[in-house]
Amino acid sequence: MNLSAFIRDIPDFPKPGILFKDVTPLLASPEAFGFAIARLSGSFATRQIDAIAAAEARGFLFAAPMAIELHKPLVPLRKPGKLPYQTHSFKYDLEYGSAELHMHIDGVGLGAQVLLVDDVLATGGTMAAACKLIESAGGIVVGCAVLIELSFLNGRAHLAGHDVFSLITY
Ligand code: AMP
Repeated sequence: MNLSAFIRDIPDFPKPGILFKDVTPLLASPEAFGFAIARLSGSFATRQIDAIAAAEARGFLFAAPMAIELHKPLVPLRKPGKLPYQTHSFKYDLEYGSAELHMHIDGVGLGAQVLLVDDVLATGGTMAAACKLIESAGGIVVGCAVLIELSFLNGRAHLAGHDVFSLITY
């Protein structure tokens, strides 16, 4: 199945110069969405995984069905002030300013093998921060699975040493 046919390019969103990869046509097709989830899950099916983690918001759309498919716990990584229980956090730099990801302190156990999931790997800043958050909590990142990789932004450079799998590469 040609999954890129289900990705819509939106120029200049959310700001001028950004070509936004809109995954909503994929979400609207149960066949394409199911195929993508099966391929993403299958790529790590033989690896030992204790949990699947993803940063809000679009990462959840892919991580949740993968957690069910692989029969693993799902751990949400969220912006400050969203998680109700005690959290671990990791602060990271953005192009302008900074951001922070939080995870419940019981989200990932010591030595747990964690698969990270997102919709798009762009500069890799978000995925690298997610890796650091998991590692600071004592977890081990087994891999990073993304639907779309914008390879010209070289996000993998931020993820050296991690196994990165993408289904669609631009
Ligand atoms: P990154 O630059 O890799 O930290 O990307 C940050 C987040 O923004 C990713 O989790 C994506 O969901 C989103 N993102 C970045 N660039 C794009 C893009 N061109 N189209 C759609 N989503 C994007």
